[in-house]
Amino acid sequence: MVRFTVLASGSKGNATVITGGRTRILVDCGLSCREIFRRMRLVGEDPETLDAIVITHEHMDHVNGLAVTARKLGIPVYFTDATHRAWMRWLMPRRQMTYAQWLEQCRKLTAERQAEAAAAVEECECEPEDQETAPQEFTGGAEANSTTSNDTQAASVSAPSRKEDPTWLPGVEYFHAGEPFEIGDIAVSPFTIPHDAADPVGFVFRAEGIRIACATDLGYIPPNVKAQLKGVDLLLLESNHDLEMLRDGPYPWSVKQRVLSRVGHLSNEATADYLENGYDGQAAYVILAHLSESNNLPELAKVSAERALNGRASLLANRLLLASQHEPLSAISF
Ligand SMILES: [Zn+2]
Ligand SMILES: [Zn+2]
Repeated sequence: MVRFTVLASGSKGNATVITGGRTRILVDCGLSCREIFRRMRLVGEDPETLDAIVITHEHMDHVNGLAVTARKLGIPVYFTDATHRAWMRWLMPRRQMTYAQWLEQCRKLTAERQAEAAAAVEECECEPEDQETAPQEFTGGAEANSTTSNDTQAASVSAPSRKEDPTWLPGVEYFHAGEPFEIGDIAVSPFTIPHDAADPVGFVFRAEGIRIACATDLGYIPPNVKAQLKGVDLLLLESNHDLEMLRDGPYPWSVKQRVLSRVGHLSNEATADYLENGYDGQAAYVILAHLSESNNLPELAKVSAERALNGRASLLANRLLLASQHEPLSAISF
């Protein structure tokens, strides 16, 4: 059986569970470990049975609970190399060191991490949970890079021990956009999306002949993404903001520009345009996701998508759902 459960979707945290055959993976980990576990149990999923975590990009709403959750479960995290490095940069405390020294430290930590992976499982049981930061709304792309090259004063640098290292993970696996790979019974096809992160990706997951696409956090839908979204059985697609609400809403001008840009987020209007003119109508479920709480209303997103889909006779039996920030969506099984 293939099962798909959105635990949370939006700028305060994203996480989805996909089960295929005997394998269960968590896609993004933007809630605290405690909240991930609570929501999984709420929908009848056992967190202890997760096999891996797969990350789309390093923005806080996708990685906030990552280290604690991976340690607690003793499971590997799949990143692209650039996303992993950006995530480490974000977590690394400010130190007095040159950029070159910082790079050297990252290299050391990666080597140590690999060497320590074997000893991970028993010790991760007692990792404290209080290392997590409180969920915050992500509003700018520059934050992930803010701890990098401004500290130019040289000082002695020694790599922190594993216990002190906030970036330590029980296992790290790298993948590349455009190169499919497998995690147990689930085939994963990562594809590049246009978004202001180091190396952001969307995914198509395939298990037991069922294909599931996840595409959120993208400024527009380029041809490579359109190609990936063809012939899927379930489509999780961003419908982030209503253009008028964003224009008249509370965000500062610079943030509005970022959201609207080609590396920002999909508006209801852009999503509707895709559903009307690009989408092949094959999915049994279309789930609208990553709705902004400040610049959108579920009803607006839904009506906009419904209107776009209405002319399509083949869609009559299909379902349009909305993913929510504050509660999990009921599991969808195939
Ligand atoms: Zn996001
Ligand atoms: Zn993002």
